[in-house]
Amino acid sequence: MTARILDGLKIRDEIFAELRSDIARLSAQGVRPGLAAVLVGENPASQIYVRSKIAACEQLGMAHWLHPPPASVSTRELLQLVHDLNSDDAVDGILVQLPLPSQVDSKQILEAVDPAKDVDGFHPVSMGRLVSDRPGLVACTPAGCMEILRRNNIPIEGVNAVVLGRSDIVGKPMALLLLHANATVTICHSKTRELSEVIRRADVLVAAIGKAGYVQPEWIRPGATVIDVGTNKVTDASEAANLLRNFPERLEKFRAKGSVLVGDVHPDVAQVAGALSPVPGGVGPMTITMLMSNTVKAARIRRAAKAHTGAGL
Ligand code: NAP
Repeated sequence: MTARILDGLKIRDEIFAELRSDIARLSAQGVRPGLAAVLVGENPASQIYVRSKIAACEQLGMAHWLHPPPASVSTRELLQLVHDLNSDDAVDGILVQLPLPSQVDSKQILEAVDPAKDVDGFHPVSMGRLVSDRPGLVACTPAGCMEILRRNNIPIEGVNAVVLGRSDIVGKPMALLLLHANATVTICHSKTRELSEVIRRADVLVAAIGKAGYVQPEWIRPGATVIDVGTNKVTDASEAANLLRNFPERLEKFRAKGSVLVGDVHPDVAQVAGALSPVPGGVGPMTITMLMSNTVKAARIRRAAKAHTGAGL
C-alpha cells in the first residue's frame, strides 16, 4: 500500500481563501484584524517563525506589528508590553514567540495575555474552555491537525485514536479535540509500556514527540491514518541514509544541503499507512494557517460583535 498524502499546503490555500472572505466582511464593518508579535532577542529559529507569521498576515491583508525587545528584557518589562497590547483595541491577537530567555518567567507572561487575544491558545482560560468543549481559541498545531483530518473526510467518530506525546501545546489539546470529536483516545508518553502494541491499535495516530523517524512502519496498522507533527532537522549522514533509504531523491537533496527535515514517523510508514501527512508540507503549514484563523476569529468575536450586536459570530 502507498499512503494517500494529506497535503497541508492545499488545505492552507483553501483556508486562506475562506479567511479572505471573512476579512472582507470584517472590513465592511470597519474592522481590520491585526496580530502583534513579540520576538525577544535574536534566536534564529524564532526569527524565521515570526517572519513567516508576519508574511502570512501580509498575504491576507491583515494588520501586524513586530515588537522586538532585547534578549536582556526583564519579566516586568515584558509584562508591561503585554499589558499595552492587551489595551490596544487595534490588536486582536498577541503572539509571544517561545522560547523566552531564562531570566523571564514565561508562564507569567503567557498568563498576562488577555484570553480574548490569546491566538496561540496557550492561556489557562483557553485550555479550560477546550477541556469543557466550549467555544474558544484552540492551540494552532492541534487545530491544524483536526482540519487535515476533517477536510480529507477521515472518520473520527468511534475510531481508536492514539496521540503520541503529551505536551501542553500539542499532545494534550490534540487528545481533547479528538475526544470531543467522539474518538476513543489513548495518550502515550515516554513512560508508556509496549508502545508499539498501543500504536498498532490506532485507526488514527498523531505523533508529536520530537524524535526523527521514531515510529516504525511495523507499528502501524495497515490502512491507518497517520498525522506526523514532528519537525526534526537531521544533519547526521548515517541517520539520513537510514531514514531515507527508500527515498533516493530526498537523500540526494540531503547530500547537497547537509540537512533534511524528518517527522517523528519513519518515512517508510508511507508504505503501510492508508493516509499520511508528510514532513515537510503536512502539519507545518497548518500551524501558521490556524494562527491566522484564530486572529480573524478573535477580531470577529471581540470587535465585530461589539460594533454589530451578534453580527459575525
Ligand atoms: P515536547 O514538549 O518535547 O513533548 C514531547 C512529548 O513526547 C512528551 O510528552 C514526551 O513524553 C513524549 N516523548 C518523548 N520521547 C518519547 C518516546 N520515546 N516515546 C513516547 N513518548 C515520548 O514536544 P512538542 O512541543 O509537543 O513537539 C513535538 C514535536 O512536534 C517536535 O518535533 C516539534 O518540533 C514538533 N512541532 C511541530 C509543529 C509544527 O508546526 N509542525 C508545532 C509544534 C511542535 P514525557 O511527557 O513523558 O516526557
